[in-house]
Amino acid sequence: MRIDFEKSFRPSKIVCVGRNYAGHAKELGNDVPNEPLLFLKAPSALVFDGDEIVLPAFSQQVEHEAELAVVIGKRCSRLGPDDDVRLYLQGFTCVNDVTARDLQRTDGQFARAKSFDTFCPVGPWIETDLDPSDIRVMCRVNGEIRQDARTSDMVFPVEFLIRYISNMMTLEPGDIIATGTPEGVSPLQPDDICEVEIEGIGTLRNLVAEDRA
Ligand code: ZN
Repeated sequence: MRIDFEKSFRPSKIVCVGRNYAGHAKELGNDVPNEPLLFLKAPSALVFDGDEIVLPAFSQQVEHEAELAVVIGKRCSRLGPDDDVRLYLQGFTCVNDVTARDLQRTDGQFARAKSFDTFCPVGPWIETDLDPSDIRVMCRVNGEIRQDARTSDMVFPVEFLIRYISNMMTLEPGDIIATGTPEGVSPLQPDDICEVEIEGIGTLRNLVAEDRA
């Protein structure tokens, strides 16, 4: 079943996983971590299918990151190995973990680089019935494929991540977990059309725009 995002949708947090595909870790010159590398994206960065991604004047290198996203359905914390993770999920959607790559490097931590307004497109809807273990994740820019991988390539699989994160912080309904991006990230330019397509979910489409402020 598909559930539309309300325009008022605002998660308490967006938890992201870094370096969860070996190919992407390598392209940025990083090793694959021994346990999930977590960071947060500001909920104020959220936009939806059809909205613009605005390139901030602070950055010269804004890149797309196509990712499978988990949407939490029920409050949970400290999920153990015997807990059925599926009971706590609303479903799955596409997310573009838009990143100011130059600022990510110079800042040394990710808060600014990941959290400019419009840097978290999600959608086009929440798919409630999906097995996330081996599905295709793609990113196209102006119709050209830039990222193309399968979730079975993840270092830490989806259920492991949800259980792991729930042991760090309580997950609330509406919270989003971005499960990491595969290799192929590349810079976005004004007027680009960026699409994240995930098998079994659909296509999240956003136009890239200059900061006109
Ligand atoms: Zn990411």
